[in-house]
Amino acid sequence: MATDPYAWIEQSLATIHRAGWYRSVQTIENRPGATVLLEGREVINFAGNDYLGLAGDPRLIQAAINATQEYGTGSTGSRLITGHRELHRQLESAIAELKQTEDALVFSSGYLANLGAITALVGKRDLILGDQYNHSSLKNGAILSGATVLEYRHNDIEDLKNQLNQHRQLHRRCLILTDSVFSMDGDICQLPQLLEVAEAFSSMLLVDEAHGTGVFGTRGAGCVEHFGCTGRSLIQMGTLSKALGSLGGYIAGSAALIDFLRNRAPSWIYTTGLSPADTAAALAAIAIVQQEPERRSRLWQNVADLQQLLKAVGIVPLFQESPIVCVPVKDAQEALSTGKYLKERGIFAGTIRPPTVPTSRIRITLMATHEPIHIQQLVAALTC
Ligand code: PMP
Repeated sequence: MATDPYAWIEQSLATIHRAGWYRSVQTIENRPGATVLLEGREVINFAGNDYLGLAGDPRLIQAAINATQEYGTGSTGSRLITGHRELHRQLESAIAELKQTEDALVFSSGYLANLGAITALVGKRDLILGDQYNHSSLKNGAILSGATVLEYRHNDIEDLKNQLNQHRQLHRRCLILTDSVFSMDGDICQLPQLLEVAEAFSSMLLVDEAHGTGVFGTRGAGCVEHFGCTGRSLIQMGTLSKALGSLGGYIAGSAALIDFLRNRAPSWIYTTGLSPADTAAALAAIAIVQQEPERRSRLWQNVADLQQLLKAVGIVPLFQESPIVCVPVKDAQEALSTGKYLKERGIFAGTIRPPTVPTSRIRITLMATHEPIHIQQLVAALTC
């Protein structure tokens, strides 16, 4: 007798539940901000990636409304067919100007930017070396490319060099992949050393600035600026959905690289262009990143204040290098119970568990718009 070919799905879900790995969504009922209405209750928001507090900014909202009125809701097709608007080029010029690169290319999400760039740049004859804690979009882009994929130990330059020594000459091209700010740990990559290694081994380097853009660097250009590596040969990726408060992703780099991606990146060629609203909102955000450095100062002041308060109560986060502050917990069950407890005390923070990360943690993200009282309440809740 034929068995139900879908029965395994429910069994699999039961296993996920048993492990404490089950995930579900929580509804936010108003605009994003330092506080949000979560399922009917106002909570202090430490769970987003809206570092500069721009996702609910009236100027971004107005830019999105204006663009929608002028260009409609959808881009209607691939940029190469019907989906291209002047706004897209304006945004790409603004990104290139922020990053000090020759050009940039906007994708419909950061995930698609990584998939598209990696699959265009390397193939079967090539080698990819990625940090073991890289974001899923880098890891899946690597698999999709068909290249030989190796991982080096997290932030371990010696391990990277050893693996390159062993494998580099067996392959045509080599691409090194790294997050600039590791999204689930909050530490940052060693960019100058990575660039040195990339150059020594004739390898390309793609750095994912999803959590760096708008946050690091005097001008908010990211970790590349922070480390004084502006102008160096490398591929800079980023998203419009975190500090820039919108949706979409991009690659910034040389004019030749961008021209090549327009011709070879499948997740750019065969997908609908970014919506006019998202494009205009991101453009408005980049202007604010440049015109209001005080937002970045407030964000970093909040990072310093949280570090000091945590130290005073003896809580030791995984790292203290960015606005992403992760407090380790024993296991997935403890992550869930801590998250629930914090929510009852009016604090909304991320509960991050395997398989996203090897060990469970509470992920706290700071915003420029958090007030000192928000941070004090967070620490008070964490100490109870
Ligand atoms: N890279 C990193 C490091 C990320 O954290 C994310 C988002 N979680 C992405 C890429 C994907 O960006 P997007 O959300 O725009 O698809």
